[in-house]
Amino acid sequence: MKVITSVTQMHAVAQQYAKDGTLGFVPTMGYLHEGHGSLIERAVQENDRAVVSVFVNPTQFAPGEDLSSYPRDLEKDLAFCQSLGATAVFHPEPNEMYGPNFAAIVEVPSLTVNLCARARPSHFKGVCTVVAKLFNIVAPTRAYFGLKDAQQFFILRRMVLDLNFPIELVGCPTVREADGLAMSSRNSYLSLTERKAAPILHKALEEGRALILAGEKKRAPIIDKIQRVLATEPLVSLEYVELVETLGLRQTDEITGEVLCALAARIGTTRLIDNFIFS
Ligand code: AMP
Repeated sequence: MKVITSVTQMHAVAQQYAKDGTLGFVPTMGYLHEGHGSLIERAVQENDRAVVSVFVNPTQFAPGEDLSSYPRDLEKDLAFCQSLGATAVFHPEPNEMYGPNFAAIVEVPSLTVNLCARARPSHFKGVCTVVAKLFNIVAPTRAYFGLKDAQQFFILRRMVLDLNFPIELVGCPTVREADGLAMSSRNSYLSLTERKAAPILHKALEEGRALILAGEKKRAPIIDKIQRVLATEPLVSLEYVELVETLGLRQTDEITGEVLCALAARIGTTRLIDNFIFS
């Protein structure tokens, strides 16, 4: 497995790969877990070669967020990628990706109004810009993203369509711990007590989903149910729980098509997200 740190070299190697087959790509911020693993496995299975990027992208963190404390373990990540059959890992330094006069921004404004964009208004600009750069550098056939970050997936799907990236986006299901907590690199911040409380996020969403399955179509009772379940856990401080349609990510009062029900909450100081999609 190649480990590449230079943009020029990654571009040249990826072009070579693309000449003799399909190329799968999994962008990550590292500290890899089984959730990332499920994306890498699929990229390896469905393509002739697979590239994983490990890059903690500074532009998607706002001042005061956890950029400097974000967990990192490159050695372990490389061993994990190799064990899953990745062809190469791209691991650039921030100054390799962002030169001193870097000024371009890619954004999808209408999809970055609700959900996580309320509390993190600059986050998705950082995500879109880095993913656009990575797509140009790696030029994959298919790119794999987790639906755990559903808003990110729907925004990137819009970006790929609108900017004509010739790349197939593949959305992959959320991988969970045995107790239902969505796997996340940030779970490592949780204390033992917080970790025990954290599965309530999934449990609350499951109760919301059960209401929908029982025939409820109106937003208010679904959101109310989820909020009431979350309120039983004093360690949870809810940032938002929203029900939106998946095309424009606008709040919907009544379910008529595919919807995303998503939440963000703090458990202690750790901000966690989770969701379900209902179609
Ligand atoms: P990150 O390293 O957090 O930027 O995540 C890199 C990719 O892995 C993104 O597409 C995430 O949506 C995806 N991912 C993270 N956690 C999970 C999970 N628990 N299940 C499935 N995919 C995930």
